[in-house]
Amino acid sequence: RKYVVVTGGVLSGIGKGIISASIARVLKESGIQINALKIDPYLNVDAGTMNPNQHGEVFVTEDGYEADLDLGHYERFLGIDVRRTNNMTAGQIYKAVIDKEREGRYLGGTVQMVPHVTGEIKDRILSVEGQVVMIEIGGTVGDIEGEIFLEAVRELAFELGRENFFFVHVTYVPYLKATNEFKTKPSQQSIQLLRRIGIHPDMIAVRSESPVTNNDLKKVALFGGVPQDMVFNLPDMNNVYEVPYRLYTLGIHEKIAKALNLSISGEFHWDF
Ligand code: ADP
Repeated sequence: RKYVVVTGGVLSGIGKGIISASIARVLKESGIQINALKIDPYLNVDAGTMNPNQHGEVFVTEDGYEADLDLGHYERFLGIDVRRTNNMTAGQIYKAVIDKEREGRYLGGTVQMVPHVTGEIKDRILSVEGQVVMIEIGGTVGDIEGEIFLEAVRELAFELGRENFFFVHVTYVPYLKATNEFKTKPSQQSIQLLRRIGIHPDMIAVRSESPVTNNDLKKVALFGGVPQDMVFNLPDMNNVYEVPYRLYTLGIHEKIAKALNLSISGEFHWDF
């Protein structure tokens, strides 16, 4: 089984969910059997108790699970019914580990973040079926809550083989009106933060308000240590349902398939 892991840097709300669902859609249209796992690093067990004013409407899945609204992206973009197994929260992980501890299932061991919490996360990731599993890690790299999930994914890539993992990092390049320029520094720093914890991204998706220059993308590639053909810009679009086709025109599916050694073929359809 292969994994595409999407992380985000700089800010939240930059379109990581839309990019993840869009990559998943392009891979699906390429004839790949794809499944998705959204990881929410918050301590709520599910989104059922969260204020919709703060977090958006709760998305109720077919099997009655109260999920984050992001799960709806996958349902609409992939044309599938998502279930509770398509979402994982830190609350679920810690609850499961503490319940196991109370049941004496760690046989007297000292229960620790590594290997017990990471072990629980890895087991749940491994239980998701599919030829390719799209893992979207919520939040921003550097968040305390998210660290343990990044560590678990890093370990898994090491254990299962780096060739089975493809890491996409989504960053944001702000535009400074006063000096009329785009600024790549926050992107550079978020990539460095990711590398510092042992994850070297394979691809960088640069989000921005309007198209950035090639020179800016070159800088992100150089400082990020990623080949230039693996860095692409995704400016704001009027309609997020056009993002999958945009990624297709950039050849994202071919680049991911090549890196993961997947054969792809397909007649592409973009209707929703
Ligand atoms: P994140 O997962 O990073 O928090 P989302 O994917 O949920 O972000 O997107 C946040 C908001 O930005 C959503 O309202 C979405 O419709 C909008 N958005 C995402 N990507 C784009 C894009 N490429 N162009 C315009 N709007 C976008």
